[in-house]
Amino acid sequence: SRRVILKEYVEGYPTEEHMELLPAADVDVGEAASAAEGSVLVKNLYLSCDPYMRPKMSRPLGQSSYTSAFVPGSAITGYGVSQVVRSSLPALAPGDLVRGITGWEDYSVIKPPFTGLLAKIRPDHGVPLSYYTGILGMPGLTAYVGFHHICSPKAGETVFVSAASGAVGQLVGQFARLAGCRVVGSAGSDEKVELLKTKFGFHDAFNYKTEDGDLAGALKRRFPEGIDVYFENVGGKMLEAVLLNMKTHGRIAVCGLISQYNLTPGEKESGAGVRNLECLVTKRIRMQGFIEPDHKHVYPEYEAWVVPHIKDGRVVYVEDVAEGLEAAPRALIGLFHGRNVGKQVVSIAAT
Ligand code: NDP
Repeated sequence: SRRVILKEYVEGYPTEEHMELLPAADVDVGEAASAAEGSVLVKNLYLSCDPYMRPKMSRPLGQSSYTSAFVPGSAITGYGVSQVVRSSLPALAPGDLVRGITGWEDYSVIKPPFTGLLAKIRPDHGVPLSYYTGILGMPGLTAYVGFHHICSPKAGETVFVSAASGAVGQLVGQFARLAGCRVVGSAGSDEKVELLKTKFGFHDAFNYKTEDGDLAGALKRRFPEGIDVYFENVGGKMLEAVLLNMKTHGRIAVCGLISQYNLTPGEKESGAGVRNLECLVTKRIRMQGFIEPDHKHVYPEYEAWVVPHIKDGRVVYVEDVAEGLEAAPRALIGLFHGRNVGKQVVSIAAT
């Protein structure tokens, strides 16, 4: 068995040198071994690369992030799809497929409290297993509650989504279209922009990197009457440009601010920040942050709605699959350079 550890805390952009693939001789996967009381031994099949993992790589400052930091020398942890090898829990049996928080390892021993987060995947689910890290996992529920619960959308309204081709954004765009909204997305390459328009059904899309000089103008051309709903994934300059283009009584759901995650403490201190927050007052905008863990109870409703949509093709999902545990560090880092086209997942093993 092998594992990917965090070698040291990261300042600025993470590199592959911040992580290391090591043998994991301490995980006993032999026939004779039994799962220790309260724990479950799993074989990991798919690992999820998610932007929230970056703040967990920083030295903890005693505040800020809502999840705790990784421990240097220990395995990176994150969402994944796994198969139970041995279980001390009556609810889980060898062979069961589960989704939850696991280690970046070939095999992981899951202990409380993480055993409580393991959710069984029905054997007759009928969709690709990797989807349980994306559309049927944390990013899917994020898109659903973020759009439907936090944005309060109405048919006929205008919606803008940043990082629109990613794990969350591609779904927000499709959910907005299904809700009868006019939806526009931004992404960081022409290939992604094409995907937004042809695959995900965005009504319009643009490459923010080639419109960098005048993001406010790019939005103004696409929203001459203004934006009712902004699904915020990025922050920084994009947020400034959006604020100028919001309608009175518009809503902004703050899902994430990926443009800020790799700033060094010095850059954060000296940065000018978003300079036009007065728009919140003058336009009476409601801006609300949210996190997916607060909304786990919505998952059954979401799953029951989205699975038929996937099966009949009304909702599609694009994944970027890296092969092998050794590819995981580069895949994770790629999120912060826009290398992923769609949901970034790492395929580790077959069932
Ligand atoms: P994505 O699949 O969208 O991958 C990240 C993408 O962000 C990249 O592909 C890149 O796309 C874009 N990006 C990277 N750096 C920058 C930058 N400096 N400026 C602008 N865009 C950048 O990730 P997810 O869909 O998983 O996550 C999207 C957002 O949602 C993140 O902010 C994340 O933290 C947040 N999130 C929040 C959750 C919550 O519970 N609140 C849960 C899940 C995600 P491009 O090529 O378009 O630049």
